[in-house]
Amino acid sequence: MSILVWIEQSDGLVISNCWELLAKAKELAVELETTAAALVIGDEVDEAARQAFTYGADTVYAAADATLSRFRLQPYAALAEQAVERAAARAFLTNASIRGGTLAATVACRQQAGIAANASDLWVEAGELVAARTIYSGNIRAELRFENRLVVASIRPRSFPMPEPVGGPGVMVTLDVALDEAQIREKVTDFRAADSGEIGLTDAHIIVSGGRGVADDPAKGFKLVGELAETLGAALGASRAAVDAGYIPYKHQVGQTGKTVRPDLYIACGISGAIQHLAGMGNSKIIVAVNKDSGAPIFERAKYGIVHDLFEAVPALTAEFRKRLA
Ligand SMILES: Cc1cc2nc3c(=O)[nH]c(=O)nc-3n(C[C@H](O)[C@H](O)[C@H](O)COP(=O)(O)OP(=O)(O)OC[C@H]3O[C@@H](n4cnc5c(N)ncnc54)[C@H](O)[C@@H]3O)c2cc1C
Repeated sequence: MSILVWIEQSDGLVISNCWELLAKAKELAVELETTAAALVIGDEVDEAARQAFTYGADTVYAAADATLSRFRLQPYAALAEQAVERAAARAFLTNASIRGGTLAATVACRQQAGIAANASDLWVEAGELVAARTIYSGNIRAELRFENRLVVASIRPRSFPMPEPVGGPGVMVTLDVALDEAQIREKVTDFRAADSGEIGLTDAHIIVSGGRGVADDPAKGFKLVGELAETLGAALGASRAAVDAGYIPYKHQVGQTGKTVRPDLYIACGISGAIQHLAGMGNSKIIVAVNKDSGAPIFERAKYGIVHDLFEAVPALTAEFRKRLA
């Protein structure tokens, strides 16, 4: 029996938050007195398998074949099912990415298992797995208990802390890859990564975010917030109020209905600190708030606070950082 995690890869590189999932699987496995296992699929899997052992996998189920170089649901789901059965998996966990969500849903359907889609937490209660996810646009936090033995969950990135690589080698199990390209209905004809040149929010070590506090001059406000982000090599975030007002696209939204982040440093500029915003960034190591209202709730969570107009404070910070980082 084991807790099985799909190690998602893109262009042969592991999506790093799979290691958070694997560390969580290890923690659950210890509580359930079982083992943690990783599923690695691709044309080359040795490096991903080696890393999976260092992040806590007791067993790695591996499938390597040139036809597996890019994610395609049909062969990946067949291999995931094979791994679920061979591992006698108690749980099958994936990233809540497009690929991970699709794979989890397919495996759950075929295995007649319950699924927690886009979950944000997973724990053991009286020997059973329980998952949490938000529903109705984040208004309700639902706890899911499962009737079936197999629990499937796709988990939102950055829901758990990034572990340190500590483990040693474990058992490698090679899956049967009997693939007939002619039988696979999906064909990948081309792959183009969206190269925006921006730093992704979920992987960023530093995030500078802007909120409705820029409302007096949104274009200037986000230009200033963006300049501070660029100076620090940070990703650009935003509150939902800023997104809803059209100051910045949704992909930058942090919070309950946006992205969950865990940077080392989070600088919130003109953000009040509503509970739904905190839900997405409250686990940041150091929070700095720039807000002209000393009573803003963000200051209760911030380690450092600047009570000042952001249109003056943010460029002053940028100028100082530029000087010091030069
Ligand atoms: C179901 C649901 C889901 C939600 N999901 C999210 C989510 O994912 N993410 C999210 O962020 N919110 C979310 N919200 C919205 C959330 O409740 C808040 O409305 C939102 O976070 C407020 O954004 P804000 O802090 O930018 O704006 P406000 O609350 O209006 O705060 C603006 C702040 O800027 C300060 N300010 C104003 N002018 C200046 C200035 N010149 N200089 C410095 N400070 C200034 C003000 O003092 C104030 O504190 C959700 C709400 C609901 C109901």
